[in-house]
Amino acid sequence: MAGPVRKSPMAVESAQKPSRFVGALGHDRIRVSFEFFPPKTAEMEKTLWEAIARLEPLAPAFVSVTYGAGGSTRERTHATVKRILTGTKLVPAAHLTCVGATRAEVDAVVKSYWDIGVRHIVALRGDPPEGVGERYQPHSGGYDYSYDLVAGIKRSGDFEISVAAFPEKHPESKSIEQDLDVLEKKVAAGASRAITQFFFENDLYFRFLERVRARGIKVPVVPGILPVQNFKQAKNFAERAGATVPAWLADRFAGLDDDAVTRKLIAAAVAAEQVFDLVDRGVTEFHFYTMNRADLVYAVCHLLGLRPAQTTAKAPAKEVASR
Ligand SMILES: Cc1cc2nc3c(=O)[nH]c(=O)nc-3n(C[C@H](O)[C@H](O)[C@H](O)COP(=O)(O)OP(=O)(O)OC[C@H]3O[C@@H](n4cnc5c(N)ncnc54)[C@H](O)[C@@H]3O)c2cc1C
Repeated sequence: MAGPVRKSPMAVESAQKPSRFVGALGHDRIRVSFEFFPPKTAEMEKTLWEAIARLEPLAPAFVSVTYGAGGSTRERTHATVKRILTGTKLVPAAHLTCVGATRAEVDAVVKSYWDIGVRHIVALRGDPPEGVGERYQPHSGGYDYSYDLVAGIKRSGDFEISVAAFPEKHPESKSIEQDLDVLEKKVAAGASRAITQFFFENDLYFRFLERVRARGIKVPVVPGILPVQNFKQAKNFAERAGATVPAWLADRFAGLDDDAVTRKLIAAAVAAEQVFDLVDRGVTEFHFYTMNRADLVYAVCHLLGLRPAQTTAKAPAKEVASR
Protein backbone atom coordinates (compact mmCIF):
# COMPACT_ATOMS: atom_id res chain seq x y z
CA MET A 1 0.00 0.00 0.00
CA ALA A 2 1.32 3.40 -0.86
CA GLY A 3 2.10 5.60 2.15
CA PRO A 4 0.93 9.21 2.45
CA VAL A 5 2.34 11.49 -0.22
CA ARG A 6 5.08 13.60 1.31
CA LYS A 7 5.71 17.04 -0.06
CA SER A 8 9.29 17.88 -0.89
CA PRO A 9 10.67 20.93 0.98
CA MET A 10 10.62 22.84 -2.32
CA ALA A 11 6.94 22.05 -2.87
CA VAL A 12 6.13 23.25 0.65
CA GLU A 13 8.02 26.47 0.10
CA SER A 14 6.36 27.17 -3.23
CA ALA A 15 2.94 26.45 -1.71
CA GLN A 16 3.53 29.27 0.79
CA LYS A 17 4.80 31.85 -1.66
CA PRO A 18 2.29 33.68 -3.80
CA SER A 19 2.42 32.34 -7.33
CA ARG A 20 -0.02 31.95 -10.19
CA PHE A 21 -0.23 28.24 -9.31
CA VAL A 22 -1.26 28.67 -5.69
CA GLY A 23 -4.96 27.93 -5.35
CA ALA A 24 -5.18 30.18 -2.30
CA LEU A 25 -4.80 33.25 -4.49
CA GLY A 26 -7.94 35.29 -4.21
CA HIS A 27 -9.67 37.56 -1.80
CA ASP A 28 -7.34 36.89 1.09
CA ARG A 29 -4.12 37.28 -0.88
CA ILE A 30 -4.80 39.57 -3.82
CA ARG A 31 -5.93 43.16 -3.36
CA VAL A 32 -7.12 45.18 -6.32
CA SER A 33 -8.34 48.70 -6.99
CA PHE A 34 -9.98 50.07 -10.12
CA GLU A 35 -9.62 53.49 -11.70
CA PHE A 36 -12.41 55.17 -13.67
CA PHE A 37 -12.75 58.55 -15.33
CA PRO A 38 -15.85 60.76 -15.08
CA PRO A 39 -18.11 60.45 -18.13
CA LYS A 40 -18.71 63.38 -20.47
CA THR A 41 -21.85 62.18 -22.26
CA ALA A 42 -24.96 60.17 -21.44
CA GLU A 43 -23.58 57.26 -23.46
CA MET A 44 -20.26 57.32 -21.61
CA GLU A 45 -22.17 57.50 -18.36
CA LYS A 46 -24.04 54.31 -19.25
CA THR A 47 -20.77 52.54 -20.13
CA LEU A 48 -19.19 53.64 -16.85
CA TRP A 49 -22.03 52.42 -14.67
CA GLU A 50 -22.21 49.12 -16.51
CA ALA A 51 -18.49 48.67 -15.84
CA ILE A 52 -18.89 49.59 -12.17
CA ALA A 53 -21.84 47.19 -11.77
CA ARG A 54 -19.83 44.36 -13.32
CA LEU A 55 -16.70 44.99 -11.25
CA GLU A 56 -18.35 45.79 -7.92
CA PRO A 57 -18.90 42.14 -6.88
CA LEU A 58 -15.13 41.58 -7.05
CA ALA A 59 -14.94 43.70 -3.88
CA PRO A 60 -11.96 45.92 -4.75
CA ALA A 61 -10.18 47.65 -1.87
CA PHE A 62 -11.25 50.96 -3.43
CA VAL A 63 -12.22 52.50 -6.75
CA SER A 64 -10.78 55.84 -7.81
CA VAL A 65 -12.15 58.55 -10.06
CA THR A 66 -9.81 60.84 -12.00
CA TYR A 67 -9.94 64.61 -11.92
CA GLY A 68 -9.34 67.23 -14.59
CA ALA A 69 -8.78 70.95 -14.53
CA GLY A 70 -11.83 73.06 -15.25
CA GLY A 71 -15.19 73.47 -13.55
CA SER A 72 -17.38 70.97 -15.40
CA THR A 73 -14.78 68.16 -15.19
CA ARG A 74 -14.42 68.77 -11.48
CA GLU A 75 -18.15 68.58 -10.99
CA ARG A 76 -18.33 65.32 -12.94
CA THR A 77 -15.67 63.79 -10.69
CA HIS A 78 -17.56 64.93 -7.61
CA ALA A 79 -20.88 63.61 -8.95
CA THR A 80 -19.35 60.24 -9.87
CA VAL A 81 -17.66 59.86 -6.49
CA LYS A 82 -20.89 60.78 -4.73
CA ARG A 83 -22.92 58.25 -6.71
CA ILE A 84 -20.36 55.52 -5.96
CA LEU A 85 -20.62 56.40 -2.29
CA THR A 86 -24.40 56.46 -2.13
CA GLY A 87 -25.36 53.93 -4.80
CA THR A 88 -22.82 51.12 -4.34
CA LYS A 89 -20.94 49.26 -1.61
CA LEU A 90 -17.63 50.42 -3.09
CA VAL A 91 -15.15 52.67 -1.28
CA PRO A 92 -14.38 55.65 -3.51
CA ALA A 93 -11.08 57.50 -3.71
CA ALA A 94 -11.32 60.93 -5.34
CA HIS A 95 -8.39 62.15 -7.45
CA LEU A 96 -7.51 65.79 -6.90
CA THR A 97 -4.91 68.03 -8.56
CA CYS A 98 -3.21 71.37 -7.93
CA VAL A 99 -3.97 72.71 -11.41
CA GLY A 100 -5.87 75.91 -12.05
CA ALA A 101 -7.21 76.56 -8.57
CA THR A 102 -6.32 78.52 -5.47
CA ARG A 103 -5.62 76.77 -2.19
CA ALA A 104 -8.97 77.97 -0.88
CA GLU A 105 -10.77 76.44 -3.87
CA VAL A 106 -8.93 73.13 -3.51
CA ASP A 107 -9.55 73.13 0.24
CA ALA A 108 -13.25 73.66 -0.43
CA VAL A 109 -13.30 70.59 -2.69
CA VAL A 110 -11.50 68.58 0.01
CA LYS A 111 -14.02 69.73 2.61
CA SER A 112 -16.94 68.83 0.35
CA TYR A 113 -15.51 65.32 0.01
CA TRP A 114 -15.08 65.01 3.76
CA ASP A 115 -18.65 66.20 4.31
CA ILE A 116 -20.17 63.52 2.08
CA GLY A 117 -18.05 60.80 3.68
CA VAL A 118 -15.10 60.38 1.29
CA ARG A 119 -11.97 59.43 3.25
CA HIS A 120 -9.45 58.60 0.52
CA ILE A 121 -7.89 61.07 -1.93
CA VAL A 122 -5.39 60.41 -4.73
CA ALA A 123 -3.35 63.63 -4.59
CA LEU A 124 -1.61 64.74 -7.78
CA ARG A 125 -0.01 67.79 -9.22
CA GLY A 126 -1.87 67.34 -12.49
CA ASP A 127 -0.74 68.16 -15.98
CA PRO A 128 -0.54 71.68 -17.43
CA PRO A 129 -3.98 72.80 -18.71
CA GLU A 130 -2.38 73.40 -22.13
CA GLY A 131 -1.50 69.72 -22.31
CA VAL A 132 1.26 67.27 -21.41
CA GLY A 133 4.68 68.49 -22.51
CA GLU A 134 3.85 72.17 -21.94
CA ARG A 135 5.64 74.00 -19.15
CA TYR A 136 3.88 73.57 -15.81
CA GLN A 137 3.28 76.82 -14.01
CA PRO A 138 1.95 76.55 -10.45
CA HIS A 139 -1.21 78.60 -9.96
CA SER A 140 -0.43 81.76 -8.01
CA GLY A 141 -2.08 81.17 -4.68
CA GLY A 142 -2.51 77.46 -5.41
CA TYR A 143 -0.71 74.35 -4.20
CA ASP A 144 2.51 74.14 -6.20
CA TYR A 145 3.34 70.43 -6.25
CA SER A 146 1.73 67.21 -5.15
CA TYR A 147 3.45 67.14 -1.74
CA ASP A 148 2.05 70.63 -0.96
CA LEU A 149 -1.39 69.29 -1.81
CA VAL A 150 -0.86 66.18 0.35
CA ALA A 151 0.06 68.42 3.31
CA GLY A 152 -2.98 70.65 2.63
CA ILE A 153 -5.35 67.67 2.50
CA LYS A 154 -3.93 66.29 5.75
CA ARG A 155 -4.54 69.68 7.39
CA SER A 156 -8.20 69.45 6.31
CA GLY A 157 -8.89 65.97 7.62
CA ASP A 158 -7.37 62.61 8.36
CA PHE A 159 -7.74 61.28 4.83
CA GLU A 160 -5.99 58.23 3.46
CA ILE A 161 -3.80 59.65 0.69
CA SER A 162 -2.39 57.89 -2.35
CA VAL A 163 0.11 59.54 -4.71
CA ALA A 164 1.67 58.87 -8.12
CA ALA A 165 5.02 57.19 -8.78
CA PHE A 166 6.86 56.71 -12.04
CA PRO A 167 8.92 53.54 -12.62
CA GLU A 168 10.34 55.07 -15.81
CA LYS A 169 10.81 58.58 -14.34
CA HIS A 170 8.37 61.44 -14.56
CA PRO A 171 8.87 63.09 -17.97
CA GLU A 172 9.76 66.45 -16.37
CA SER A 173 12.21 65.07 -13.79
CA LYS A 174 15.92 65.21 -14.49
CA SER A 175 16.50 61.80 -12.96
CA ILE A 176 14.93 58.98 -10.99
CA GLU A 177 16.80 60.45 -7.99
CA GLN A 178 14.75 63.64 -8.35
CA ASP A 179 11.58 61.54 -8.51
CA LEU A 180 12.63 59.69 -5.37
CA ASP A 181 13.22 63.02 -3.58
CA VAL A 182 9.70 64.03 -4.55
CA LEU A 183 8.20 60.68 -3.52
CA GLU A 184 9.97 60.97 -0.18
CA LYS A 185 8.37 64.40 0.32
CA LYS A 186 4.92 63.08 -0.58
CA VAL A 187 5.25 60.32 2.02
CA ALA A 188 6.66 62.71 4.63
CA ALA A 189 3.63 64.96 4.00
CA GLY A 190 1.23 62.09 4.73
CA ALA A 191 0.81 59.81 1.71
CA SER A 192 0.45 56.16 2.65
CA ARG A 193 0.48 54.53 -0.78
CA ALA A 194 2.03 55.17 -4.19
CA ILE A 195 0.31 54.01 -7.36
CA THR A 196 2.55 53.72 -10.38
CA GLN A 197 2.13 55.02 -13.86
CA PHE A 198 1.44 52.04 -16.12
CA PHE A 199 4.35 50.09 -17.54
CA PHE A 200 4.69 47.01 -19.72
CA GLU A 201 8.15 45.75 -18.71
CA ASN A 202 7.97 44.39 -15.16
CA ASP A 203 11.74 44.68 -14.68
CA LEU A 204 11.33 48.46 -14.81
CA TYR A 205 8.93 48.28 -11.87
CA PHE A 206 11.21 46.04 -9.81
CA ARG A 207 14.28 48.19 -10.50
CA PHE A 208 12.31 51.25 -9.39
CA LEU A 209 10.98 49.45 -6.31
CA GLU A 210 14.50 48.49 -5.32
CA ARG A 211 15.56 52.16 -5.44
CA VAL A 212 12.47 53.23 -3.48
CA ARG A 213 13.27 50.72 -0.74
CA ALA A 214 16.97 51.64 -0.78
CA ARG A 215 15.85 55.20 0.04
CA GLY A 216 14.00 53.86 3.07
CA ILE A 217 10.57 54.66 1.59
CA LYS A 218 8.32 51.98 3.03
CA VAL A 219 4.82 52.66 1.67
CA PRO A 220 3.27 50.17 -0.75
CA VAL A 221 4.15 50.96 -4.37
CA VAL A 222 1.17 49.49 -6.16
CA PRO A 223 1.71 48.66 -9.83
CA GLY A 224 -0.70 50.44 -12.18
CA ILE A 225 -1.84 47.98 -14.85
CA LEU A 226 -3.26 49.15 -18.15
CA PRO A 227 -5.00 46.34 -20.01
CA VAL A 228 -4.56 47.34 -23.65
CA GLN A 229 -8.13 47.89 -24.83
CA ASN A 230 -6.85 49.75 -27.88
CA PHE A 231 -3.18 49.54 -28.83
CA LYS A 232 -2.99 52.86 -30.71
CA GLN A 233 -4.57 54.69 -27.80
CA ALA A 234 -2.30 52.94 -25.28
CA LYS A 235 0.76 53.90 -27.36
CA ASN A 236 -0.43 57.47 -27.43
CA PHE A 237 -0.94 57.52 -23.63
CA ALA A 238 2.47 55.92 -23.15
CA GLU A 239 4.21 58.57 -25.26
CA ARG A 240 2.65 61.31 -23.17
CA ALA A 241 3.35 59.53 -19.89
CA GLY A 242 6.96 58.68 -20.72
CA ALA A 243 6.25 54.94 -20.59
CA THR A 244 8.07 52.55 -22.91
CA VAL A 245 6.07 50.52 -25.40
CA PRO A 246 8.25 47.49 -26.10
CA ALA A 247 8.57 46.17 -29.65
CA TRP A 248 7.21 42.77 -28.52
CA LEU A 249 3.98 44.45 -27.42
CA ALA A 250 3.52 46.23 -30.75
CA ASP A 251 4.24 42.92 -32.46
CA ARG A 252 1.49 41.17 -30.51
CA PHE A 253 -1.13 43.60 -31.77
CA ALA A 254 0.31 43.96 -35.30
CA GLY A 255 -2.07 43.15 -38.12
CA LEU A 256 -5.15 43.09 -35.88
CA ASP A 257 -6.54 46.55 -36.64
CA ASP A 258 -9.65 45.05 -38.23
CA ASP A 259 -10.00 42.12 -35.86
CA ALA A 260 -11.52 43.32 -32.61
CA VAL A 261 -12.25 39.85 -31.27
CA THR A 262 -8.65 38.61 -31.54
CA ARG A 263 -7.36 41.97 -30.22
CA LYS A 264 -9.42 41.48 -27.08
CA LEU A 265 -8.18 37.92 -26.57
CA ILE A 266 -4.59 39.09 -27.04
CA ALA A 267 -5.15 41.99 -24.64
CA ALA A 268 -6.39 39.60 -21.95
CA ALA A 269 -3.42 37.29 -22.53
CA VAL A 270 -0.92 40.18 -22.37
CA ALA A 271 -2.40 41.61 -19.16
CA ALA A 272 -2.63 38.15 -17.57
CA GLU A 273 0.98 37.45 -18.45
CA GLN A 274 2.05 40.72 -16.86
CA VAL A 275 0.14 40.27 -13.60
CA PHE A 276 1.09 36.61 -13.27
CA ASP A 277 4.75 37.51 -13.60
CA LEU A 278 4.27 40.19 -10.92
CA VAL A 279 2.51 37.68 -8.65
CA ASP A 280 5.27 35.13 -9.14
CA ARG A 281 7.71 37.83 -8.06
CA GLY A 282 5.80 38.63 -4.88
CA VAL A 283 3.28 41.34 -5.84
CA THR A 284 -0.21 40.93 -4.37
CA GLU A 285 -1.70 44.40 -4.90
CA PHE A 286 -2.77 45.84 -8.26
CA HIS A 287 -4.37 49.06 -9.47
CA PHE A 288 -6.18 48.64 -12.80
CA TYR A 289 -6.66 51.50 -15.24
CA THR A 290 -10.05 50.31 -16.45
CA MET A 291 -10.73 52.98 -19.09
CA ASN A 292 -14.32 52.53 -17.87
CA ARG A 293 -14.50 49.04 -19.41
CA ALA A 294 -14.98 45.94 -17.30
CA ASP A 295 -14.37 42.91 -19.50
CA LEU A 296 -10.55 42.70 -19.58
CA VAL A 297 -10.13 43.73 -15.96
CA TYR A 298 -12.81 41.26 -14.88
CA ALA A 299 -11.11 38.44 -16.78
CA VAL A 300 -7.67 39.22 -15.32
CA CYS A 301 -9.09 39.48 -11.80
CA HIS A 302 -10.82 36.13 -12.31
CA LEU A 303 -7.47 34.62 -13.29
CA LEU A 304 -6.02 36.14 -10.12
CA GLY A 305 -8.56 34.14 -8.14
CA LEU A 306 -11.01 36.94 -7.39
CA ARG A 307 -14.62 35.84 -7.38
CA PRO A 308 -17.87 37.76 -6.90
CA ALA A 309 -18.25 38.40 -3.18
CA GLN A 310 -21.91 37.50 -2.72
CA THR A 311 -23.76 37.32 -5.97
CA THR A 312 -23.04 35.19 -9.01
CA ALA A 313 -21.51 37.41 -11.68
CA LYS A 314 -23.89 38.14 -14.50
CA ALA A 315 -22.43 37.86 -17.97
CA PRO A 316 -22.62 41.22 -19.72
CA ALA A 317 -25.83 41.63 -21.72
CA LYS A 318 -23.95 41.94 -25.03
CA GLU A 319 -22.24 38.56 -24.63
CA VAL A 320 -25.46 36.82 -23.64
CA ALA A 321 -27.15 38.27 -26.71
CA SER A 322 -24.43 37.04 -29.04
CA ARG A 323 -24.59 33.39 -27.90
C1 LIG B 1 -1.92 56.84 -10.52
C2 LIG B 1 -1.99 58.15 -11.27
C3 LIG B 1 -3.21 58.84 -11.30
C4 LIG B 1 -3.30 60.06 -11.98
N1 LIG B 1 -4.51 60.73 -11.98
C5 LIG B 1 -4.60 61.95 -12.56
C6 LIG B 1 -5.81 62.72 -12.51
O1 LIG B 1 -6.82 62.28 -11.96
N2 LIG B 1 -5.83 63.94 -13.09
C7 LIG B 1 -4.72 64.47 -13.71
O2 LIG B 1 -4.79 65.60 -14.21
N3 LIG B 1 -3.56 63.77 -13.77
C8 LIG B 1 -3.47 62.53 -13.21
N4 LIG B 1 -2.29 61.83 -13.27
C9 LIG B 1 -1.15 62.41 -13.99
C10 LIG B 1 -0.30 63.31 -13.10
O3 LIG B 1 -1.04 64.42 -12.65
C11 LIG B 1 0.88 63.77 -13.93
O4 LIG B 1 1.72 62.69 -14.23
C12 LIG B 1 1.67 64.93 -13.37
O5 LIG B 1 2.53 65.43 -14.38
C13 LIG B 1 2.54 64.54 -12.19
O6 LIG B 1 1.82 64.39 -11.07
P1 LIG B 1 2.53 64.14 -9.63
O7 LIG B 1 1.44 64.14 -8.65
O8 LIG B 1 3.44 63.00 -9.69
O9 LIG B 1 3.39 65.49 -9.54
P2 LIG B 1 4.55 65.93 -8.59
O10 LIG B 1 4.86 64.89 -7.58
O11 LIG B 1 4.22 67.28 -8.08
O12 LIG B 1 5.79 66.02 -9.60
C14 LIG B 1 5.62 66.53 -10.90
C15 LIG B 1 6.96 66.96 -11.47
O13 LIG B 1 7.38 68.13 -10.83
C16 LIG B 1 8.71 67.97 -10.37
N5 LIG B 1 8.85 68.77 -9.14
C17 LIG B 1 8.41 68.48 -7.90
N6 LIG B 1 8.71 69.49 -7.05
C18 LIG B 1 9.33 70.43 -7.78
C19 LIG B 1 9.87 71.73 -7.47
N7 LIG B 1 9.80 72.22 -6.23
N8 LIG B 1 10.44 72.43 -8.48
C20 LIG B 1 10.49 71.95 -9.75
N9 LIG B 1 9.99 70.72 -10.09
C21 LIG B 1 9.43 69.98 -9.12
C22 LIG B 1 8.83 66.48 -10.13
O14 LIG B 1 10.18 66.05 -10.16
C23 LIG B 1 8.07 65.93 -11.31
O15 LIG B 1 8.83 65.92 -12.47
C24 LIG B 1 -2.15 60.59 -12.64
C25 LIG B 1 -0.96 59.86 -12.65
C26 LIG B 1 -0.87 58.65 -11.97
C27 LIG B 1 0.43 57.88 -12.00
